[in-house]
Amino acid sequence: MTEITLYNTRTRRKAPFRPIDPGNVRMYVCGPTVYDRAHIGNARPVVVFDTLFRLLRHVYGDAHVTYVRNFTDVDDKINARAQRDGRGIREITDETIGWYHADMDALGALRPTFEPRATEYIGQMIAMCEVLIARGHAYVAEGHVLFSVSSYPEYGRLARRSLDEMRAGARVEVAPYKRDPMDFVLWKPSDADLPGWESPWGRGRPGWHIECSAMAHDLLGASFDIHGGGIDLAFPHHENELAQSCCAHPEGSFANVWMHNGFLQVEGEKMSKSLGNFFTVHDLLQKGVPGEVIRFVLLSTHYRAPIDWTEAKVEEATRTLRKWRGLTAAAEPSQDVASAVVEALGEDLNTPAAIAELHRLAGAGDAGGLKASAALLGLLTDALGGWAEAPDAGGAVSALIETLISERSAARKAKDFARADALRDGFAAAGVVVKDTAQGATWELAPEFDAAKLEALR
Ligand code: AMP
Ligand code: ZN
Repeated sequence: MTEITLYNTRTRRKAPFRPIDPGNVRMYVCGPTVYDRAHIGNARPVVVFDTLFRLLRHVYGDAHVTYVRNFTDVDDKINARAQRDGRGIREITDETIGWYHADMDALGALRPTFEPRATEYIGQMIAMCEVLIARGHAYVAEGHVLFSVSSYPEYGRLARRSLDEMRAGARVEVAPYKRDPMDFVLWKPSDADLPGWESPWGRGRPGWHIECSAMAHDLLGASFDIHGGGIDLAFPHHENELAQSCCAHPEGSFANVWMHNGFLQVEGEKMSKSLGNFFTVHDLLQKGVPGEVIRFVLLSTHYRAPIDWTEAKVEEATRTLRKWRGLTAAAEPSQDVASAVVEALGEDLNTPAAIAELHRLAGAGDAGGLKASAALLGLLTDALGGWAEAPDAGGAVSALIETLISERSAARKAKDFARADALRDGFAAAGVVVKDTAQGATWELAPEFDAAKLEALR
């Protein structure tokens, strides 16, 4: 069996991965808060942990891996969005989940085994709060239930910092009802205009961290193998999940291996709406960037390192995948995935090394090996890979290009050079490369193809 080695944020070390039960390898990854489209940074954990999911399935068998990724559908950001837009919360969360599925499907991400919604686990969260109170790890104050960090000497285990260090560095607003500034909210009261559920502490709603602990326990048990998410979640979210889960279920260890992906930035800068470099997965797909290209770019950097999203990488990935798709178009995948690819992924998910192996297979003309091995990274997996679908849903792009090319010939014949030139320049700007041949015009899409610019030529 392939040896998998994983870096564990908790121990700050790589170690051979030994599942609790090889017959049911269990992984939990924190999912999105659903009130808006997923941005390109949000796609990184999805693609990284999907690749790990594929590797685990490859090694332990498809039926022997359970992957849970939640939807946070109760959150103050969702409430604010509902109030701003005058819409119902459920309407917003349902719509956003639909978008999320469509966008992540386009990136070739398999659906997790379970995708629980937080609002379906309120009962389990309340029960967990009650256990924590009964065991002296939580207390009630002004309608809130708070976790008492001083009740758990191991608090700070994941961050590897002492409570004193954390208190000193804390910039938390200290609510008067907190016994310790580091105590965190498990449950809080809701006004009449906010979503709320009846509880022993009045009508209220959960704090953020408790949902993952409740859902992970319900679906994966008191101990499971891998817990993942972006590095921003390590503290306080994961620290708090770990503390409350171990206190409520001391028979278990919660997660054994903690994995965190590094952050994504764009062209060397932090992504932000004010810098104008903020974009969603949907924006990219709309622009005609195939989902497979997005996936390739995200996997071309090791998951723990920060990744810089650049236009140049998108173009490079487009060229590579075009070539590989051409090479493998008629090939049957070979029986076996190249062992060097499995080994690279087994080495703490070293996707850049795995991609280098794919280049080697392509260079050697091993189309079958390339097809089988790329599939383990979720690449070259289906007939489309988003290529036909994204840039040209239903052939609309080809139809428009053909129409505009005929219009250009008609304009030339009618000596309307202004329109003919405008179309020529417009094609160039939209990334449509038109070549006039003796048999008529041919065209192809350049990597920088921009559907909106083409549309504007109508
Ligand atoms: P959120 O919906 O904000 O809770 O985020 C969903 C997931 O995306 C979490 O695992 C975050 O850690 C991750 N994430 C958010 N922004 C970035 C980013 N810029 N780069 C990488 N991961 C991110
Ligand atoms: Zn979580």
